[in-house]
Amino acid sequence: MPDADRQAADRAALTAELAQARRIVVFTGAGVSTESGVPDFRSPGGVWSRMKPIYFQEFVNDEDKRREAWNRVFSGAAKWTGARPNDGHTAVARLVAQGRASAVITQNVDNLHQESGIPEDKVIELHGNAHYARCLSCGLRHEFDEFRDGFLDRGEIPTCRACGGLVKSATISFGQAMPQGPMDRAEAATLACDLFLVLGSSLVVFPAAGFPMLAKRNGARLVIVNREPTDQDAYADLVLHDEIGPVMREAVGL
Ligand code: ZN
Repeated sequence: MPDADRQAADRAALTAELAQARRIVVFTGAGVSTESGVPDFRSPGGVWSRMKPIYFQEFVNDEDKRREAWNRVFSGAAKWTGARPNDGHTAVARLVAQGRASAVITQNVDNLHQESGIPEDKVIELHGNAHYARCLSCGLRHEFDEFRDGFLDRGEIPTCRACGGLVKSATISFGQAMPQGPMDRAEAATLACDLFLVLGSSLVVFPAAGFPMLAKRNGARLVIVNREPTDQDAYADLVLHDEIGPVMREAVGL
């Protein structure tokens, strides 16, 4: 088949998969947000090619690393904040609003699913959120604004207003344990779906990348939309190597 015909056939097949599903779980990775200008993590030009990750233990043990981490927060160095949702996010929000998708499991930390209108309780964040902070001791949520002036004007490294513990951006760092609550919710959602739809993830970062196979083994259909091939394409019922925004806009009829 010529490429254009193949692409059209794949897009039609995606529309059919979505139409036939009764309970969809959407799983998203950096590829959804690169179309909003949020850099991905691992590719050339991605976040980790521009700055070295600060490991969790370094943050906890080393004041200089904490200062560097907070510098990154307030300089917006990672560009994880300030972007707007694109058609991919909007299409997923439509599936949730229509009751066709029960949950969105995301590896992203950019908050764009919530900003696209999906209720917070339907977004399961496996790697946390870059838009606020949490106390590492008691878990209390803090907003960045509480700390901005103290840090930028007086060099005060944020601590918890309740317990005095260390406060860190609510992302899950390298070396930090996966958040148990979201992992449990993601597993439950995965086991309850009949279509597991991967959007923009290369499916190489575990344990997150284990959910598609869990769904598949449990009898769900598996559909992958990603610009590049993934390690799990061979297990999928349908694979599209394509842009997410245009594909999803067409598939849900935006
Ligand atoms: Zn605390």
